[in-house]
Amino acid sequence: MRAKFGICTVYMKRLLTNFKLLDPTIHVMETHLKQCLHCTKKLAGRTDKKFCSNHCRSSYHNQLYGDRTNYMRRVNGLLLRNRKILSDLFAMHRTGTTVPLSELYVKGFSPCHFTHQQKKAKNQLFTYCYEFGYQLTGKDCIKIVQQLSIE
Ligand SMILES: [Zn+2]
Repeated sequence: MRAKFGICTVYMKRLLTNFKLLDPTIHVMETHLKQCLHCTKKLAGRTDKKFCSNHCRSSYHNQLYGDRTNYMRRVNGLLLRNRKILSDLFAMHRTGTTVPLSELYVKGFSPCHFTHQQKKAKNQLFTYCYEFGYQLTGKDCIKIVQQLSIE
């Protein structure tokens, strides 16, 4: 009984597929009822057109990619702020001087956002925001460093 039902389903699917392939109204829909992807206005002219205007094209792409670029913009903003904080502290203290970790937080440093990390030796982990980085040297102390070349 089960096998019979299976064959029946396959047969029905094939029949439906063939029907769709042969159905002339589907092709009519595709070629004559093209509409703008943004405002759904009917499109005339070239069949590869997707939008009725440049305005609709940019609105569509802003909607599609807007969230992604906003996210990236926020992350880039945090990275640049982190870099600025490290660069200011580096200019004030220079390499080798330890700075209290609290100085970073007071200035609004976001420790979750960094560009890369480097492990130079055991317990020597450097965290960078672009060319400026820091290393935890004590419980609440950091050492700020500047990387001079991209490795
Ligand atoms: Zn449109």
